[in-house]
Amino acid sequence: MNPAETRNRSINFLGEGTLDALVIGGGIVGAGIARDAAMRGLRVGLVEQHDFAYGTSGRSSRLLHGGLRYLAQGRLGLVRESSIEKRVLHRIAPHLAEPLAFVFPSYQGAGWPPWQLRLGVKIYDLLCGGRNLGQSTWLPQPSVLKLIPQLEGNRLRGASRYFDALTNDARLVLDTLRSAARNNAGVINYLKFRNADYSGQIWTCELEDQLTGQHHTIRTRAVVNATGPWAQKLPHSHVQLRLTKGVHVVVDRRRLPVPDAVVMTEGARILFAIPWAERVIVGTTDTDYDGPIEAVRTQREDLTYLLRITAKFFPAAALTEADIISSWAGLRPLIASPAGRPSELSRAHQIRNPEPGWWDVAGGKLTTYRLMAQQAVDQIVTHLKLTAAPCHTAEEPLLTPEQCSEFSSIAPPAVAREAVEHFCAQEWVVHLSDVMLRRARWHYYCADASLKAEQVGQWMARLLDWPPERLQQELAAYREEAEWPANPLPHSKS
Ligand SMILES: Cc1cc2nc3c(=O)[nH]c(=O)nc-3n(C[C@H](O)[C@H](O)[C@H](O)COP(=O)(O)OP(=O)(O)OC[C@H]3O[C@@H](n4cnc5c(N)ncnc54)[C@H](O)[C@@H]3O)c2cc1C
Repeated sequence: MNPAETRNRSINFLGEGTLDALVIGGGIVGAGIARDAAMRGLRVGLVEQHDFAYGTSGRSSRLLHGGLRYLAQGRLGLVRESSIEKRVLHRIAPHLAEPLAFVFPSYQGAGWPPWQLRLGVKIYDLLCGGRNLGQSTWLPQPSVLKLIPQLEGNRLRGASRYFDALTNDARLVLDTLRSAARNNAGVINYLKFRNADYSGQIWTCELEDQLTGQHHTIRTRAVVNATGPWAQKLPHSHVQLRLTKGVHVVVDRRRLPVPDAVVMTEGARILFAIPWAERVIVGTTDTDYDGPIEAVRTQREDLTYLLRITAKFFPAAALTEADIISSWAGLRPLIASPAGRPSELSRAHQIRNPEPGWWDVAGGKLTTYRLMAQQAVDQIVTHLKLTAAPCHTAEEPLLTPEQCSEFSSIAPPAVAREAVEHFCAQEWVVHLSDVMLRRARWHYYCADASLKAEQVGQWMARLLDWPPERLQQELAAYREEAEWPANPLPHSKS
């Protein structure tokens, strides 16, 4: 079956009869809910207005973590919850949860003193149920500099080395959706939820196909608003958010040779330099955002900030804007609280049932998505008195070893026609950007991404039978989505 036929079949599935639940939003939260509900035997559909993982879930720091800084804020419950989920994900999706050591340096007269760090990481290990992904240790100053020679050595007193995990956020969404689909969920991208009416205990929802302009009406007992930063914009939503923007940049690892991730502090803020195969991800910023959600972009001041903090910790690297291979900006959908600095806002999640059969699921973290899904589906099953199997998403592997393909990993696969074929045949690809930005992450990884996009586009044109003018349109749309309105970087990647 070709991709268009698969899509039409899923749209028909949504339209036939009444669904138990319609999930709006194909980020990690929606994907997790669709998988959980489908595994319990519910008749479930998921619609995404753009591509899967287009929103925040493709633009995070890609960490599965308890959040050491939440410990400093005294949010022990949140740290414990996330730490346990980190281990669950490592168990059910080992291909997307790689243990990663973090070196957290302590400097005289600044940041966390050694006693606080040593105690902090011990508590952190204990909150994982006593078994973190690796044992934390204290490194004296000479050992730190031996491990990371480029790190600022002046006033360095030593460092704690502790463990979290690195993931690939967009791949986690896609593999969760693949699992949902294998359990008979109907998942469709480029299909936008427009409105809904409730009557006779059924929601009638209006959906608009973003590829054809066609409108579809579907019936469902429950609607789940899992639209992340868009959550408060949906009709019937009762969510109130405070959006904060976070920017990351990618540099070559030879320019910032870090064997482990490095924690960089600025006052109470924590930033990371995270090794990603031959690259290093540096981020993140955390600033209030009130612009249009779709137009969130990296600005020059974001780059200046990230380079300034990196220069403080790695002066010898002397990174400049010319070293930046790529960048991304995302929005944290934080539950609203007018007071406090962005970095102090809670990352806790909220599941609410403000109208019969309508659920708003908001806030939280990538790390806690499985738990959020479990709690949301528990509520739906109870309130609607549905017959359902118990939740077993914490035990059942996300994909079996046979389903795990070489094309789903933390480091991008080699740029090859086979990979593109796989994405087009198996993973709901519509546009060139879907492959470059989310399926393969080549846009972020490859220094010559623009050239790679031309090659990938030619393969896609043959595989998907594009008419001659389509390739140029796809290249233009990819460049716009990746860099619009204006790439603030001084060098063009073409
Ligand atoms: C900079 C940054 C760094 C982060 N780092 C981490 C980290 O390292 N670890 C961690 O655990 N968490 C991290 N987070 C938090 C985490 O990424 C988010 O909590 C999570 O991705 C939110 O997922 P979501 O599914 O709620 O939202 P999203 O991923 O935004 O998904 C919502 C989806 O809904 C779709 N949608 C909206 N309206 C409609 C409609 N009308 N019809 C159909 N679809 C619609 C959107 O297109 C979107 O794809 C980070 C967040 C940011 C911003």
